[in-house]
Amino acid sequence: MRIDIMTLFPDVVGDMLCESILGRGQERGFIRIECHQIRDFTTNKQKQVDDYPYGGGRGCVMLAQPLYDCWKHICDEAGRKIHTIYMSPCGNLFNQNRARELQQKHDRLIIACGRYEGVDERFIEECVDEELSIGDFVVTGGEIPAMAVADAVCRLVPGVLPDEECFIDESHWDGLLEYPQYSRPEIWQNRRVPEILLSGHHENIKKWRREQSLIRTQERRPDMFEKLKNESGK
Ligand code: SAM
Repeated sequence: MRIDIMTLFPDVVGDMLCESILGRGQERGFIRIECHQIRDFTTNKQKQVDDYPYGGGRGCVMLAQPLYDCWKHICDEAGRKIHTIYMSPCGNLFNQNRARELQQKHDRLIIACGRYEGVDERFIEECVDEELSIGDFVVTGGEIPAMAVADAVCRLVPGVLPDEECFIDESHWDGLLEYPQYSRPEIWQNRRVPEILLSGHHENIKKWRREQSLIRTQERRPDMFEKLKNESGK
């Protein structure tokens, strides 16, 4: 899987995605993340990437031209059109299922990060295949959302994590939240690790964890619990 990220802050994004598990995944060649400076594709002397919105209003809008030229540069180098995502609070809500689909369907992705009031709509119409949102709130730029999507997709690429168990056992994989986890020491601030986890009885531990997952999901995410109940009733 290769992900190209279009941003005004390539160093910050690149540095972050080179750390830890994703860094090792890149070193070992399972994934590749390339960040592109949109400003390098401006055609004006000031390297200006934004301008006032037509129709008035506050703030600035990112110009279509540098975004398009940056996007075209990536696609031309690849020799084909690459599935392109624009991070936007107006997009479809990103989730684990979408991460899984993106990982399974595509070997390359482009993720475009907006800033200011967003990007000229014509860039979206011309180049973007889907808009994704990381939640019903607004952050100042698409970089944090893009890093979240890139991370969630890349960790599903075979080889990046030690084995499949690492993610199929986690929250949201099968519609459940994960059970509570504990590490050493056995007693901390007068709080004990549940006895069952010290028993060494793998079957009972598995059963307990499943029950805890169900309880937690029902309490915290009744929407997910209902969905699960309806699906298992089919
Ligand atoms: N004016 C835009 C609106 O009301 O929809 C918000 C622009 S926001 C300040 C700047 C950029 O941050 C957006 O272009 C987008 O790339 C990114 N962004 C902000 N919130 C986001 C979210 N929830 N999900 C994905 N991207 C987001």
